[in-house]
Amino acid sequence: MSEQALGVVLKTTPLRESDLLITLYTDTHGRISAVARGARRSQRRFAGALSLLVLAKFELGRKPRGELWSLESADIVREWTRLATDVIAVAHASYVAELVSSLLPAEAPDPDVLELVVAAWDSLADHGPSPAALRAVELRLLDISGHRPAIDQCAICGATDLDTGAVFDGARGGAICRRCAAMSRGAGVRVFEATTRAYLGAVLAAGTPSEAQVVDGQFSATDRLAARDVVLAMVRGLVGKPLRSLEYIAKLGAAQRGTDAP
Ligand SMILES: [Zn+2]
Repeated sequence: MSEQALGVVLKTTPLRESDLLITLYTDTHGRISAVARGARRSQRRFAGALSLLVLAKFELGRKPRGELWSLESADIVREWTRLATDVIAVAHASYVAELVSSLLPAEAPDPDVLELVVAAWDSLADHGPSPAALRAVELRLLDISGHRPAIDQCAICGATDLDTGAVFDGARGGAICRRCAAMSRGAGVRVFEATTRAYLGAVLAAGTPSEAQVVDGQFSATDRLAARDVVLAMVRGLVGKPLRSLEYIAKLGAAQRGTDAP
């Protein structure tokens, strides 16, 4: 029995001599692992669809009571592979894929995820890499995974007076007011300035990654960095291990000093 699903490749890993283990996010099954037999020898059956920055129709099979899917064939629906020559764009696209892979549970499809990935790649193709676009993706994925951070009110008591003494504590749900902040002691706790709150509020209000890009120009580099820092602290805490694509983006940033932070 085989079936068709629309999806994107999140990761490929060599498996045995000639196969590839593919992590996909599909519309019908969410995140799944599938074996593409012989794909290390020939990718003809997969028509160039086994890479990042491609939306494709995948033909999938699974044996009764089998754990792994098998990937029979693939056809490209849309692709953004012209971005492959831009290392920063590829790094941002890889980060989006790694976020989807790390934050969302296996085989729990959400109708908004593919649309979000496509929107992120459209944003990269149309406007280039943008910190605010990445924040829009992170905040949406946190929301979808049931960890929407509190931004405008204290995650513990609901207080909206966050102008003095507030911190951001991802492990406790986001913004924490001055009174509740005494209990926030973890390594991921950050001072939560009013301007950082305004930046993240503007990203949330913008909606899509493309629309969020204008937010970058409305704030200082310090605000962009602070916003990145609080959201990444929360993401790292939830994932529980370093994100490889993020380390790569940091290295690119260090190599190109003077360019903006991701
Ligand atoms: Zn509070």
